[in-house]
Amino acid sequence: MDKLFHFDSPREIYTSDACVISCFDARFDLAVRKFLKRRGIALFDHVKIPGSAKALAAPEADSDRDFVLRMVRTSVRLHGSARALLVAHNDCGAYRGAPAEVIVADLSRAAAVLLAAEPALPVECYFADFDGIYQVA
Ligand SMILES: [Zn+2]
Repeated sequence: MDKLFHFDSPREIYTSDACVISCFDARFDLAVRKFLKRRGIALFDHVKIPGSAKALAAPEADSDRDFVLRMVRTSVRLHGSARALLVAHNDCGAYRGAPAEVIVADLSRAAAVLLAAEPALPVECYFADFDGIYQVA
């Protein structure tokens, strides 16, 4: 191997403030990161999946749902994540042309799936729009 870049990364295993599941749409990266920081979530395991909640609420294959659940469980096991945050966003490519209400409904369905699988893990849902982040009850 040839070293191309020097950077000192921390060696200590960390405790994650949350397991965050969001879409990989980069348009909302900065807003989500700033929002999480504002909420006191500084260190987190970030699971980025196109469509985020859709993989739990309406997966194309059951194995997609199992895969996401396994990621959440791994975050809890390895880094002690005490809660899961589901973040969906407007104009998501996984929901081509669908109104925000459809995406938000999937967020709630995804939270129910996650709670059924991991009843002890608190789940919070958020919707990222072009003007900010909204909490979904
Ligand atoms: Zn998306």
